[in-house]
Amino acid sequence: MGTVLITGANRGLGLEFVRQYVASGHQVLACCRNPQSATALTELATESPQVELLALDVTDETQINQLAKQLHGRAIDILINNAGVLGEQCAELGKMTQADWLSVLTINTVAPALMIQAFASHVAASEQKTIVGISTRVASIEDNGSGGMYSYRASKAALNQILKSAANNLQAEGVKTLAIHPGWVQTDMGGENATFTPQQSVSGMIAVIDQLTPEASGSFKVFDGSDIPW
Ligand code: NDP
Repeated sequence: MGTVLITGANRGLGLEFVRQYVASGHQVLACCRNPQSATALTELATESPQVELLALDVTDETQINQLAKQLHGRAIDILINNAGVLGEQCAELGKMTQADWLSVLTINTVAPALMIQAFASHVAASEQKTIVGISTRVASIEDNGSGGMYSYRASKAALNQILKSAANNLQAEGVKTLAIHPGWVQTDMGGENATFTPQQSVSGMIAVIDQLTPEASGSFKVFDGSDIPW
């Protein structure tokens, strides 16, 4: 079994990825920005030597690069860029500010790009060689029939472009990328009325990640494996 690095691993989908990858025998590099308040993740790390709890605020470029250095020589089979925000402050015309916009872009877009840059060599040194971005269907321009969600839609559409470029640029090293929509999921972000449980969403995403072929690298899919139009 391989090694998986997950950002935003302390709650929601990130925490469920940790649980399911541990259960299937993987080694998990579980990153979160406040390990001291990550109670559930700390419990998992205490129970299992498969979980390595690492501090990482994805908005901190120095931390990203230091972590990559700290993990030098470690092969990472699956890099999951999961940490994200909804950017409610920048959802509507009339409410947007430059500061709120930049905050959303820094987390949802710039951070995954810097993570891919910092960890591409770790992924290239692994067996599975896969980079994942947790995207969203609302990033699809074709799907945008209702407007709104300005910074969220734009930040995730830009994430999709980053993953597509990385699919091209890292192809020679055998590295594959995938933008995946987790469904509408019951987390703090998705809310309690969401359609799917984290268990359903994450088990679906793991199956899609495992089935990703070099030919399908750079694609945009739903957690059930279907394709999303750009
Ligand atoms: P949650 O709000 O439950 O969790 C978000 C995670 O991101 C938390 O672990 C949070 O950490 C982390 N995070 C936010 N900012 C930073 C930062 N600067 N550095 C490190 N970690 C950070 O969301 P979900 O689990 O639902 O979402 C996970 C991903 O799935 C996101 O990218 C989201 O956009 C995407 N998604 C979710 C959907 C849903 O229905 N839930 C639908 C479509 C996409 P902290 O606790 O420290 O804030």
